[in-house]
Amino acid sequence: MTTSIAPIAPQRSPGADDLSIWPASTLPDGHGDIAVGGVSLTEVAERFGTPVYVLDEDEVRNRCRAYHRAFPDADVVYAAKAFLCRAMAHWVEEEGLGLDVCSAGELELAVTTGFPPERIVLHGNAKSPQDLQTALRLGVGRIVIDSAPEVVRLAALIPAGSRQQVMVRVVPGVAAGGHAAVRTGTDDQKFGLSITDGSAQHVISRILRQPSLELVGLHCHLGSQIAAAKPYVLAVRRLVGLLARIRDVHGVTLPQLDLGGGHAVAYRPGEEVLDVAAVAGRVRDELASSCAAADLPVPRLTIEPGRAIVGPAGVALYRVLTVKRTGEHTFVAVDGGMSDNPRPALYGVRYAPRLVGRRSAAEPSRVTVVGRHCEAGDVLAADVPLPGDIRPGDLVAVPVAGAYHLSMASHYNLVGRPPVVAVTEGSARLLVRRETLADIRSRDVGL
Ligand SMILES: *Cc1c(COP(=O)(O)O)cnc(C)c1O
Repeated sequence: MTTSIAPIAPQRSPGADDLSIWPASTLPDGHGDIAVGGVSLTEVAERFGTPVYVLDEDEVRNRCRAYHRAFPDADVVYAAKAFLCRAMAHWVEEEGLGLDVCSAGELELAVTTGFPPERIVLHGNAKSPQDLQTALRLGVGRIVIDSAPEVVRLAALIPAGSRQQVMVRVVPGVAAGGHAAVRTGTDDQKFGLSITDGSAQHVISRILRQPSLELVGLHCHLGSQIAAAKPYVLAVRRLVGLLARIRDVHGVTLPQLDLGGGHAVAYRPGEEVLDVAAVAGRVRDELASSCAAADLPVPRLTIEPGRAIVGPAGVALYRVLTVKRTGEHTFVAVDGGMSDNPRPALYGVRYAPRLVGRRSAAEPSRVTVVGRHCEAGDVLAADVPLPGDIRPGDLVAVPVAGAYHLSMASHYNLVGRPPVVAVTEGSARLLVRRETLADIRSRDVGL
């Protein structure tokens, strides 16, 4: 499905708008169009229709490589829930990363497309019997146990004579993250087992009594959109403290530590980003000194970035359907909305959309970009500058759209989900096709 679209000649015009949060390949053509991966966004919209999600393959791969460079001795595991399709699994696999999944669905898709199951980690606070059975059938590398009942449930499914590697998700008691809905490092939320009240220690003893479970380490995930190194350093200190207690109580030295993901990216120019190389250095230092102090060998690290791998590689492209001026507000309504991007409605995230496809000499005016759904809360970007002459038929692009848009997409209003198009080196290819009316009809089987 690869077709070539003539690459746009590189010419970043001086004084061009701030494209710092766009993929590194992004080039304005000087006439209002923008190329990503050497492909004009106008041509993508014409060829594949709108709304459409564009994914810059090289940006994904380069981000994977940057993680390997920063953490050369760690397992880097991509958190599939940020975005998964077969091509994404291939890219991540080819770049040497592992994969972190939370459901039988993510797991099946990855393994049936050739992802090595031993490099997969299964998570979840409430794994269904199907999730666990699929994980065992396909042979995933590690399963992260998140509650006491899961220990026996999992052990009961393991055939006699075989063993499954597991980790325990602990709550390190570190508050970090961009929004309450994504803060997972403290005792007041559903994930993990508390160190403070002893439930982590209790579950660890239960696992150690199960001959079919091989406990290989501790896991934590602090939250999302964390821009500072300090929460990770604190988490290392707490987890190494727990490793030492496990050694003292059970005589077992666990060889692995998983610090989860949550690394912040910028959704608007100037927003804070996690400096991955700096965090890697701080984590390495803390690990070395805490382990030396506790007389423990340094465990092998796993990190699980999701958003920071794929978020900045994606661009959402919409067509303006109507422009409505009511009192002081101008609403620019596009042909997608909360069904393909629920993040503004869920977390109040702010985006920086821009006009593409034509140059406008009009002064910017403050507008609210809204979707097409039947809710007043269906806002993609409130109070953002767009050219004053924005009109139906224009294309609006939203950068940093690669993570937690389509993976959280819904069917609201029975609007079909948009396609995903990969761009690289001047060519565009369809990865996931648009959901059609036939797709929607076909699931509805009763009367
Ligand atoms: C969501 C999640 C991640 C990835 O988080 P990002 O913010 O996308 O980096 C990693 N590990 C676990 C366990 C998660 O739940």
